[in-house]
Amino acid sequence: MMKDPQPSVDQKVRCDACPVACWIRPGMSGACDRYANRDGELIRVDPHVILERTLDQGGRVVPFNQRKSEWAGEIVPEDALFVTAIGAGTTYPDYKPAPFIVSAEVDGVDMVTVVTEGIFSYCGVKVKVDTDRFLGPEQATVRAQGEAVGHVTTGEYGSQMLSLGGVHHLTGGSKKEGRVTCDTLLELSNGKPVELTIDDGSTIVVEAGKAPIINGVPEERMRVGCGSATIGIFAKQWFGKVDEVVVVDDHITGVLSEHASGKVLGIQPTGIKMRGRRSTPGRYFQVADPGTGWGGTSISDPLSILDPFDKSVAKPGMTMFMVSTTGEHSAFFRLDENLVPVEAEMPEALRASTERIKENCEPALSTVLFIAGAGGSLRAGVTENPVRLTRSVKDTLTRVTCGGAPVYVWPGGGITFMVDVTRLPANAFGYVPTPALVAPIEFTLKLEDYAALGGHMDHVRPLGSLGDHESRLVPPVQGNVWPFASDGPRWGRS
Ligand code: SF4
Repeated sequence: MMKDPQPSVDQKVRCDACPVACWIRPGMSGACDRYANRDGELIRVDPHVILERTLDQGGRVVPFNQRKSEWAGEIVPEDALFVTAIGAGTTYPDYKPAPFIVSAEVDGVDMVTVVTEGIFSYCGVKVKVDTDRFLGPEQATVRAQGEAVGHVTTGEYGSQMLSLGGVHHLTGGSKKEGRVTCDTLLELSNGKPVELTIDDGSTIVVEAGKAPIINGVPEERMRVGCGSATIGIFAKQWFGKVDEVVVVDDHITGVLSEHASGKVLGIQPTGIKMRGRRSTPGRYFQVADPGTGWGGTSISDPLSILDPFDKSVAKPGMTMFMVSTTGEHSAFFRLDENLVPVEAEMPEALRASTERIKENCEPALSTVLFIAGAGGSLRAGVTENPVRLTRSVKDTLTRVTCGGAPVYVWPGGGITFMVDVTRLPANAFGYVPTPALVAPIEFTLKLEDYAALGGHMDHVRPLGSLGDHESRLVPPVQGNVWPFASDGPRWGRS
């Protein structure tokens, strides 16, 4: 894309796409590598990405450097093309209209898509790490290259959660902290692996859509459920095959003979005595410290969470199966004449049960959601009256997408959205050294609604007029809702 450069000095051109305002020499690019000086012209380095629905949808969107096809404005059904903001460029300061405001007729309705590569100071990523292993205490600082870039936040079912980035790390700390935070967010958002260390916790490598690597070991599975849920799921399968089962879990450790499901099945008391804090029958909290051992606890010896058996109940020869919530750890014991559990060979039926637990554990992945707020100035590139855009999004008259990917817009004020970074074409994110992330954002709505909210109608251009600039057609990411699909926004189309 070409922009109007500022007056040149010794053939340098001045980029006006962000507050850094680089002077760029001929043949060179600016500080962010997004803009360059080509023969005295300021150009956006990456071609503008347009999604074409009719292209082969057999795989993920092709990377920029493996050009699938170029578009020279030839006639393609307008509802089969979607103009993303990737490579569209940034308009700064945003009182100027967005770089592309493109009209298209879709199902007989005139639509418009307003696209811009937004500069986001208020942005970050939420990272979900599918593991029960201890990554670090809640609120602990997460570091990249030694710099604080985020913190451990509230864990979820079977997953640990990290909150990275945000304006305080980007601009509220030292210059290095801001730069490293920006690099970290950029790498994660573009699907690259990043090594993170957590204070008083683990070192992990996170990559969107891939298994997390925790202290050098790739995580394989999520737990099938907490220890109590695992007891409930498998109680019938254990009935008659063993006297006692303990499912070791950092959250809730389950004990079959005491658990409601054991009672229903008529399993007799075994005299087992657990350490930790009893919650309800057969459910124990805090049997050990959190860690990277059995069931996300610190233990490597499962017997360390037991007190001696009750001599008035337990009998020599009784059997006990201990297993973790992923099936990664398991052991079989028999009580000797002193009622001490002694490890014995695992019966085949229980070996199969361990495999069944493993089979029911989903693959462990790292998930990266980019989150950002479309601020007042970005919205001014869409309309002269920005609050009307916000209202239009809330009223579902306007669909927000990020590189053509569906987003979740938070309720409440502003336009704060989240997007799964694996739903975007490759390398869709950039940065500027202020520091801030650059992310594509598109607003799609009916042309008449755009006019009604005070849109920049004199800058609306037909889709066919885009053929004269550097664009690249790529297929949409498989599984994404097509941005013009009529479900969702109240567009009044069939
Ligand atoms: S950092 Fe990039 S966008 Fe900002 S002025 Fe320099 S070249 Fe332009």
